[in-house]
Amino acid sequence: MSSASKSSTTERMPVVFIGHGNPMNAVRDTPFTRKLGELGKQLLRPKAVLCVSAHWMTEGTWVTHMGRPKTIHDFYGFPQELFDIQYPAPGDPATAERISRDSSHPSIHPDNELWGLDHGTWSVLRHMYPEADIPVLQLSLNLIQGPEFHFALGEKLKYLRREGILIIGSGNMVHNLRLVNFADDARPFDWAVEFDAWVKQRLQDGNYKAIVEDAFDTEAGRLSIPTPDHWYPLLYTLGAADDGEPLRFEYEGIENASISMRSLSLGA
Ligand code: ZN
Repeated sequence: MSSASKSSTTERMPVVFIGHGNPMNAVRDTPFTRKLGELGKQLLRPKAVLCVSAHWMTEGTWVTHMGRPKTIHDFYGFPQELFDIQYPAPGDPATAERISRDSSHPSIHPDNELWGLDHGTWSVLRHMYPEADIPVLQLSLNLIQGPEFHFALGEKLKYLRREGILIIGSGNMVHNLRLVNFADDARPFDWAVEFDAWVKQRLQDGNYKAIVEDAFDTEAGRLSIPTPDHWYPLLYTLGAADDGEPLRFEYEGIENASISMRSLSLGA
């Protein structure tokens, strides 16, 4: 390959899934948040980030299209310092337009009003890219659709990796807020440990089919995914990966008894 053609080729970005957990992670200095900071430095620097956050649930699929997406504080009962955070990363309207234009079955609609960046995105990115100087888009979760739809849409968005766009799924593989225990030393529930290990094994086996189709088959799975919002972002990450890409667990552990912080990269 000549140097000219080499320089015109964008290296393919990895895909990642981050278990974002408690919104307070946005302002904490912990092994988890330090890992996010390291990851931001290790990965190829993206031209833009497309984040599929657990916290934007819609009918239909939408992509943020504004030039300056607002920072959304989509939680309550947390300290003021969390509400004071701004993550002023620019948007990328041209890329949003292209994603929208190139999509059919499903259509991806450009959003100029409704959303911005929610804490599923900025609580992660302010550690990965503290300068907020990389354009960020968010993709919504069409909650009318089931797991196969979300995995297939991840596959359709895979081409963005070749354009220097970092696709991030931001959710949690185990996420049961009804049973959460905010004590720092909360012992993980057995079912949370069991299901987190079940997912880990299938990831290591590259058996994404089982992850998409069988997650709700066990009591442990149903307790870990009482609602699918934090689960589906993982399916985008896996859908956007190719067979046999190197898998790396970037972080693991169960926090607050019922939240898995397991995070991974593929193709890094
Ligand atoms: Zn969340």
